Amino acid sequence: MAEMVYDLCVIGAGMFGSAAARHASANPSVKVCLVGPAEPTPDEFQKREIFGAHYDEGRITRVLDEAPACQILSLHSISRYRELEKLSGINFYEPIGCLFSGPKNGGFIQSCLRSGAVHKVPLVEMAGNSETFRKRYPYLNLKDEEIALLDDSGGGHISPRNFVAAQKKVARLQGCHIIDSVVCGTETQSDGIHVVKTESKGTIKAKRLLIATGGFVNLKNMSVLKPLVVKRLKETVVLLNLPEDEAKRLSSMPSMISLRNTNGGHIGAYILPPIKYPDGQYYLKFGKSHTHEDNDELKTLEEVREWYLSDGDKEMEDTHVKFATELIPGLKFSGLKKHTCATCNTPSGLPYIDRVSPTVTVAVAGNGKGAKFSDEVGRIAVHLCLTGRWDSELSQGLFEAVFQ
Ligand SMILES: Cc1cc2nc3c(=O)[nH]c(=O)nc-3n(C[C@H](O)[C@H](O)[C@H](O)COP(=O)(O)OP(=O)(O)OC[C@H]3O[C@@H](n4cnc5c(N)ncnc54)[C@H](O)[C@@H]3O)c2cc1C
Repeated sequence: MAEMVYDLCVIGAGMFGSAAARHASANPSVKVCLVGPAEPTPDEFQKREIFGAHYDEGRITRVLDEAPACQILSLHSISRYRELEKLSGINFYEPIGCLFSGPKNGGFIQSCLRSGAVHKVPLVEMAGNSETFRKRYPYLNLKDEEIALLDDSGGGHISPRNFVAAQKKVARLQGCHIIDSVVCGTETQSDGIHVVKTESKGTIKAKRLLIATGGFVNLKNMSVLKPLVVKRLKETVVLLNLPEDEAKRLSSMPSMISLRNTNGGHIGAYILPPIKYPDGQYYLKFGKSHTHEDNDELKTLEEVREWYLSDGDKEMEDTHVKFATELIPGLKFSGLKKHTCATCNTPSGLPYIDRVSPTVTVAVAGNGKGAKFSDEVGRIAVHLCLTGRWDSELSQGLFEAVFQ
């Protein structure tokens, strides 16, 4: 029997890669495989070297974005969430709105208003001390000088875990082969066929490659892709464990991105409303927005691995608990835990979606906000990879890869 040669091998079964595999396999004449390790079980975690940024239940989704191009990517992605839920039978989307809050005349709110105007994102503007705001969100406490902008046109949250599961399920039903392994190298034969070496499933041959390895790009030797200019940054999230009645009290809470002035500075946080996790408990999740320190950068595979296995940034606990209790006076929580993760960032703040050779395309770098628009990134990347054509109203040049 002739050896199987795929038309397309997608490397990295995370948010971008699984979306790409679904879109590619919608065409029955294209033989597709998706290769990447599934989320480790708690027992496997310590033994792993490669992780994903999608091992969680809550990612904010929103149209409003400081980068107008991201608004377009998000609009298209969000418009397909329900179709993906229906095709897969897996629910992942809660369109509960996304609220941006901060000092009315501060840079953050002003930049939200400016960029929202570019693509006419419908926003509901409410003063933090107005009756409208207090009636709508009686448990949230904004300061007198703060205002809130509600992006209610599809904003809310998605479960990245279920989202990836849904993409993989539909891809599989469409004939995509899903190969659960880490890619440890690539070679190209003299006839142009790529040979992908995996750690546990032998080699895979493919005419085209789409590399979607997220924050792990550059870290495994893939001869087909020169090192890209990316910065991996540490993220620590704090999960506050809420009793069921408290989760109920806050059940109309939207996702939030909040900037608050403090004595002599400011603190930024993104907040996911109470979400039920696989352990059956409700958690309110806080993470840092707007600021990163130089020592947040992760350069080597070992550094990234150590970070994923660590307990994260200690200071975040105090910072976020203080923020949470000021924002939600009387907040009841029975405990907290921290998770670590890494984001992958580019100088432009936009992902790289680029055909780096006639048969190799790359789709990486969500810049800490790629979950919501991953479906559109995957779709554009696959179209580019298989046809050589750019299929988006956004300019192709915005997404060009930058090499070291
Ligand atoms: C703490 C945190 C909070 C975030 N919050 C938000 C949010 O609220 N909203 C939002 O939109 N985005 C958010 N993001 C960003 C979002 O999760 C990422 O942008 C998104 O996951 C990027 O998708 P990706 O496919 O590029 O990377 P990933 O989802 O990480 O997928 C990459 C995949 O490649 C695989 N891989 C890596 N190397 C190899 C290899 N050698 N061989 C095979 N497979 C490999 C990995 O196992 C992984 O599954 C957040 C990220 C973090 C870390």
